[in-house]
Amino acid sequence: MTQNKAVESARAKEVVRLLKKRYAASKCSLNYSNPHELLVATILSAQCTDHRVNQVSSGLFKKYSSIEAFAFANLNELSKDIYSCGYHNQKAKSIQGSSLAILNDYEGEVPQTMEELIKLPGVGRKTANCILGECFNIPSMVIDTHMIRIMNLLQFTASKNPKIIELDLMDIFDKRDWVKLTHMIIDHGRVICIARHPKCDQCVLHEQCPSALQ
Ligand code: SF4
Repeated sequence: MTQNKAVESARAKEVVRLLKKRYAASKCSLNYSNPHELLVATILSAQCTDHRVNQVSSGLFKKYSSIEAFAFANLNELSKDIYSCGYHNQKAKSIQGSSLAILNDYEGEVPQTMEELIKLPGVGRKTANCILGECFNIPSMVIDTHMIRIMNLLQFTASKNPKIIELDLMDIFDKRDWVKLTHMIIDHGRVICIARHPKCDQCVLHEQCPSALQ
């Protein structure tokens, strides 16, 4: 390990320690009861709040209570059912297409590898990492808007590209912390490190953050 990387890994460890003290209860805020429901919820969550997704999904998962129900749904009706999440036509196609692919290619089981998940219609690395970490306990990081912004402020990466950020962070954070780190940073971005209005004077990471306002 280079000296620089050793220093950054030590800082990363301290950041996780401080976040765990502040955000011990952080967890995935999407409601689901099985991997396929989480897949549907993450597709719905693009450009939409988790709160709105949960409002929609509570009725949706009752109406469409199996992978088959989503796969063979009337597409127009499914689009209307998810209208308030935005991009409803595209999301309905992704939900139906990925459900059909899971039935046809994976015997009705959501696959458990990145390579297979990102082949499903409408599923990118963000959704795949969410499912791997949440449902299958496979170390993974979801690089969402909060992770992009805050990891740049903390100077653990200098990139805005989610895949490069993921690789940068995997290099310095302990893999046992990856899943929890994502949830803690999302909570931190919602309540303290708010875009354009960071509350640096209330931030537990103040001493560790090169971007801290005085
Ligand atoms: S010190 Fe300020 S900029 Fe840095 S993480 Fe905390 S709130 Fe964000």
